[in-house]
Amino acid sequence: MTKENEGNQRSFQDKRLIEYLAVPPKEDRCTCKCNHCYLLNSPTYKNMVKRSEERMIDDINSLTEDGYKVFFCTTELFKYNKWKDIFKIAGYKSIRTNGYPFVMNPNLIDDVISMGVKKVTFTANAGKYHEGLKLPRENVVKKAILMTNNKGLVTSVNVLLNKKNYRSLEEMIIPYISLGVDYFIFSRILPANGMNNLLETEDTIEVYGQVEDLKRKFPFKETGKYFEVSGEMGSTYRPHREKTCFYCPAGTRLLAIGLDDNIYPCSFMTQGEYKLGKLENGKISLDKEFNLELEDPFGCFAHNIQA
Ligand code: SF4
Ligand code: SF4
Repeated sequence: MTKENEGNQRSFQDKRLIEYLAVPPKEDRCTCKCNHCYLLNSPTYKNMVKRSEERMIDDINSLTEDGYKVFFCTTELFKYNKWKDIFKIAGYKSIRTNGYPFVMNPNLIDDVISMGVKKVTFTANAGKYHEGLKLPRENVVKKAILMTNNKGLVTSVNVLLNKKNYRSLEEMIIPYISLGVDYFIFSRILPANGMNNLLETEDTIEVYGQVEDLKRKFPFKETGKYFEVSGEMGSTYRPHREKTCFYCPAGTRLLAIGLDDNIYPCSFMTQGEYKLGKLENGKISLDKEFNLELEDPFGCFAHNIQA
């Protein structure tokens, strides 16, 4: 089966972006309880507003009408009764899951394909390289990847990096290359509650070097493999930094709606002191401009925060 893998086709330059944080209105809020999960560790979690699914749909509709591109950040999408409606109005061609829903109910894969979804992203569990981290189970993620690949969906894995594993990028992803994964996104774990062995900004230079090596070893044109370093790595050591114009968009081009309906600069910065305004009846009202002094504007603000 031929996959429609065209590399990174994002074109949001002209859009204002919103991260809408949401936790499904049920007791078992996610099929996993990953200790790095920014939703479960968000300071707004304890003041969570009870939103109905209808209310969330109205919010996303209203924000989209106001010109925002809304990223719906949730624990596990399939926990919502109206997950199809929610994803349809957000206009997603790409979804994220921990893999359990597909393994438990393979028909879901056909459902997402019929909705127009082309790509599924998982969190990689690289066994001993992720020792000590609570992640979706390795065998479950791998099985779900095989299932989605067999249906012709493009598959992507997010590979979490810390001090213990950041020098082993290739070793970590080789099993996933064998499984047919198309995209690899390398992220550093954020300073959520109880996380240790965090990667420092200075370490990211080595990550960028290894990613360049991977790109040379598996050229996209010949292999269809795509390697990317995610935004929270910052761009201090990003190759061609000026060319890509990457900088932290928090509070300027990007806003986040916390679980408490307040507005914050980024989904990882939902501490009270960064509150910028409120979401009321689907409308954003800002009380102040984002004004965080940073030593390095090409870094990630969220890494300067102690949760
Ligand atoms: S599976 Fe994803 S959403 Fe669920 S707890 Fe883990 S990181 Fe969070
Ligand atoms: S604070 Fe970090 S994660 Fe948030 S937008 Fe900026 S670079 Fe990205």
